Amino acid sequence: MTKLKHPPSIIDKLGRPLRDLRISVTDRCNFRCTYCMPREIFGSEYVFLPHKEILSFEEITLIAKSFVANGVQKIRLTGGEPLLRRDLDRLVAQLATIPNIDLSLTTNGSLLAKRAQSLKDAGLQRVTVSLDALDEPTFKRMNDADYPVSRVLEGIEAADAVGLGPIKVNAVIQRGVNEHAILELVQHFRGSPHIVRFIEFMDVGSTNGWNLEQVVPSQEVINRISDQFPLESLQPLYQGEVAQRWRYKDGSGEVGVISSVTQAFCSTCSRLRLSTDGHLFTCLFAQQGHDMRTLLRDPLNISEEALSNWIQQKWSQREDRYSEIRTTDTARQKKIEMSYIGG
Ligand code: SAM
Ligand code: SF4
Ligand code: SF4
Repeated sequence: MTKLKHPPSIIDKLGRPLRDLRISVTDRCNFRCTYCMPREIFGSEYVFLPHKEILSFEEITLIAKSFVANGVQKIRLTGGEPLLRRDLDRLVAQLATIPNIDLSLTTNGSLLAKRAQSLKDAGLQRVTVSLDALDEPTFKRMNDADYPVSRVLEGIEAADAVGLGPIKVNAVIQRGVNEHAILELVQHFRGSPHIVRFIEFMDVGSTNGWNLEQVVPSQEVINRISDQFPLESLQPLYQGEVAQRWRYKDGSGEVGVISSVTQAFCSTCSRLRLSTDGHLFTCLFAQQGHDMRTLLRDPLNISEEALSNWIQQKWSQREDRYSEIRTTDTARQKKIEMSYIGG
């Protein structure tokens, strides 16, 4: 079968093409990970987006098509916890009709075992599952919602069984919290097709109490693994790949590291985020977004052409490179929360 050509990408002010779209389908979550949605802030009083402000599946699909016409090749559904959005399979099925895209989902895995087959049937291609530790006390302390590790492992198994693999397993490593999980995760997944990726704790949003001392640099993670299981680096699979890839020298698989803090990768960043209520964010660390929903819901002005022009205008003016210019002052600025903008 001949591969369809992708439409040309728009280029931003720093010469970066638009390639990836992350769509947050809900700002809600059944976990309260301490580094993402700390319970003191996201407690019972917290007001989540009301239904009328949330984009419908039809609106999301219309937007996604317009992005693909402007060069987007990969779409990832995220949140909050995307599997909390009712009838998500229906959105997956609609997006899966867009030709020639890579369609994936990031989830905390807690509801995945039940949903894996229907997501696969709807046309989802791959999943990334977050799992920060394999021992119960650490995992429960981090998700702060009493979810056991076994639920997530069952989700990974089910997703693998229906063909949503190879699965990427994301672990955020925090100094003094779950450093011991590095080798435990490596030992658990080594020899399987799944790829564990260790993420540096980031200063996203402004509620997680981030400070630099809690970041475990990726180089340290690689050294710790390589001491036990020698590693060699691999070339990126494509320009703009977020994770640096490493392979076990004995052939037992791959691991990755995502070093947003210690080795910024803004120079190749091709990602755009669409929030649950239809705002566009050109950087994960943005302080504000661009309101796309108003245009989308304006019967007098909405057309394929208007959407496309709007997207082109926003991307061509982009000059974000937050991680390259991060300081302790910028880290303290008020920024959009990750659960809303989409991880
Ligand atoms: N709820 C889903 C999940 O946890 O996979 C999807 C959304 S979550 C915001 C997406 C990813 O962002 C997860 O892998 C999570 O670990 C990561 N994340 C959240 N807050 C982070 C932070 N402060 N630093 C680094 N990664 C973070
Ligand atoms: Fe929820 Fe994912 Fe954030 Fe954890 S990281 S609180 S699972 S959105
Ligand atoms: Fe992209 Fe912003 Fe992250 Fe840099 S800081 S890699 S521009 S999302």
